[in-house]
Amino acid sequence: MIKKLAIIGVGLIGGSLALALKKAGLVEQVTGYSRSAAARDEALALGIIDNAADSLKEAVADADMVFVAVPMGAMQTVFEQMAPHLKSQAIVTDAGSAKHQVVEAARRALGDKFDRFVPGHPIAGTEKSGPSAAFAELYQQHRVVLTPVAETDKNALEQVRQMWQQAGADVFDMEVEHHDVVLAATSHLPHVLAFNLVGMLSKRDDCDEVLRYAAGGFRDFSRIASSDAVMWRDICLGNRHAILELLEQYRRGLDQIEQAIRQDDGDYLIDIFARAKRARDTRFADPSLKDNSEV
Ligand code: NAP
Repeated sequence: MIKKLAIIGVGLIGGSLALALKKAGLVEQVTGYSRSAAARDEALALGIIDNAADSLKEAVADADMVFVAVPMGAMQTVFEQMAPHLKSQAIVTDAGSAKHQVVEAARRALGDKFDRFVPGHPIAGTEKSGPSAAFAELYQQHRVVLTPVAETDKNALEQVRQMWQQAGADVFDMEVEHHDVVLAATSHLPHVLAFNLVGMLSKRDDCDEVLRYAAGGFRDFSRIASSDAVMWRDICLGNRHAILELLEQYRRGLDQIEQAIRQDDGDYLIDIFARAKRARDTRFADPSLKDNSEV
């Protein structure tokens, strides 16, 4: 049972954790802080939080567990502002989608409280954002990755693990750098591709006409381009090395496909497409891979 949980950033991710723990009766009191009064009021009205704090200081005072779920670009400032006001045994954890940048920001900002920081990333989400997008079942049977570092306190790690399990998630540990490469491949690169495709089509004069004939495949693929722009800017800049490497690899593959089309090389296309289909039909048929994508 968590006595006082502070949610910093009461949007989809922060709000859903609060709702899940409340529904399970595993938290006594939830205090929420968001930059805008509108988000704080909305979270209060929706019953996501019990109290809305006017400042970070007020939000974390007396908190046993602090969950930081703001866009990654805001994390360092949030850590810096909360650090002097954390009680000594408070545990801080986060939801940032790329871990290296967040871990380094926490190391710089939290000082001697860094050992009570447990880096985390719920692999769950939707393309919606804000308090109204939050729901208690978001984490049910979804994976949460924790990326403890050498300094991470074992007891803090276990408490964060339990919190996520109680919210319905399957919890895994991973090394920071490995996490960032894996997530760049399965989530960050696909988002960049979807944003680029939808952005490209939206610039065409005949865009409305083109979209009128969009089939299910386009709808599936383009859904993630509805995701929040600020959040994805921060992820791209925060995980730049892994994303740039994958973009390079992707571009090489695209160039080869382009060349095959130009040269009327149907055998090459069959080879590439059939290999991808086999991989999709066999490896992605594993039910544990379903519905685990970030959004
Ligand atoms: P969201 O729905 O937009 O919620 C973020 C909340 O943070 C909003 O309520 C926003 O409200 C508040 N906020 C923004 N800047 C702030 C600041 N400087 N100080 C305090 N509050 C601030 O976003 P989300 O989808 O929950 O994502 C939150 C974090 O989880 C991100 O780091 C993201 O990378 C990570 N994540 C997202 C997903 C996903 O699929 N969405 C999945 C896994 C992890 P106001 O600006 O109105 O105050």
